[in-house]
Amino acid sequence: MQLNQHFRDLEQSYLFSTVGRKAAAYAAAHPEQKVIRMGIGDVTLPLAAPVITALHAAVDEMAHKETFHGYGPDQGYEFLQQAIAGYYAQRGVSLALEEIFISDGAKSDIGNILDLFGPDNTVLVPDPVYPVYRDTNLMAGRRVVLAPATEENGFLPMPTPGLHADIVYLCSPNNPTGAAYTRAQLKEWVDWANREDAILLYDAAYECFIRDPNLARSIFEVEGARSCAIEFCSFSKIAGFTGTRCGYTVLPGGLARDGMELAPMWLRRQTTKYNGTPYIVQRAAAAVFTEEGMAAIQQNLDYYRQNAAVLGAALTEAGVTYYGGENSPYLWLKCPGGMGSWEFFDWLLENAQVVGTPGEGFGECGRGWFRLTAFGDAAETREAAARIAAALKTLNA
Ligand code: PLP
Repeated sequence: MQLNQHFRDLEQSYLFSTVGRKAAAYAAAHPEQKVIRMGIGDVTLPLAAPVITALHAAVDEMAHKETFHGYGPDQGYEFLQQAIAGYYAQRGVSLALEEIFISDGAKSDIGNILDLFGPDNTVLVPDPVYPVYRDTNLMAGRRVVLAPATEENGFLPMPTPGLHADIVYLCSPNNPTGAAYTRAQLKEWVDWANREDAILLYDAAYECFIRDPNLARSIFEVEGARSCAIEFCSFSKIAGFTGTRCGYTVLPGGLARDGMELAPMWLRRQTTKYNGTPYIVQRAAAAVFTEEGMAAIQQNLDYYRQNAAVLGAALTEAGVTYYGGENSPYLWLKCPGGMGSWEFFDWLLENAQVVGTPGEGFGECGRGWFRLTAFGDAAETREAAARIAAALKTLNA
């Protein structure tokens, strides 16, 4: 018997479980104190009314022989593919329905897409970033090279002279730093990837937070991306589907490497290992893109944006350097007083009873940085912001 020895290359404990464990231990030791949890990037608002209506209607359909749905089409229902294509068309990106693959979320697709690539590819992963890119490649035994995302480069690594990698992950807006690429910056990545025969894996899970017209919401807004990029997106953040589960991958027709086309390979992979996202969930997802759905969702996004503004104002008041929170639900702050990320985590828990996420949990370059999320309840966020500002004042005194 042999097990996958590459699991030894993974960090012992996954970031969010450590955060959860520490917060739970503190709460158990201090039952009289109310701990505000802003550690995990989960949403707090319920599904929007038009989404719930669609979900109910779909559930009812399942109750009758004439409208019951069993296994669905391999790539997802056309009504949802069409709704997604319409969403992309609004920003000038034209997609064929066969280029849209519906799934149960971006995380699965980001991990599963690696079935298409050989084990000897070199993978470039930003540091800090969503830990899934690194861990999924380490599990498969691939060589992972890190691209530092620092205050100096605006947390947006760019291709450097002589850079070679086969697979590059880009996350924009970024989790955890909140930084987002402009179209001009992405064009540099696209040109580099086309020259190098590399593939860009573009994670657009937070695209809905972008308001700055210079920032790209999809890599396919950039000329040349169809010959080098795959995009992952999700209903989790735009519409609160973290527990409902729906996402999609856009894989352009004609994208090929090593004499093979990637879209048919991905379809083959999916039909071999995945039997489709539930009909009722796809109906709920399609409702997001209706006129009523979009209006309700904008209200939810504005609610989170307001949270970001409240947290940002508290940090500014306390004189703490931070980034993000503008085109992103995350605020990325420099730990005050030269504290380390975990040190500041413990300090904030102890002094403000607020749980955040230590930056170094997202990579070495996150050392000394800290992530706050705008996805919380508004009243709790206001309370957290006030507590953070008050605690930081004692530090400065
Ligand atoms: N990509 C990024 C950058 C994320 O931060 C997350 C979740 O937090 C995901 C993907 C996962 O999305 P999903 O819920 O669709 O699996």
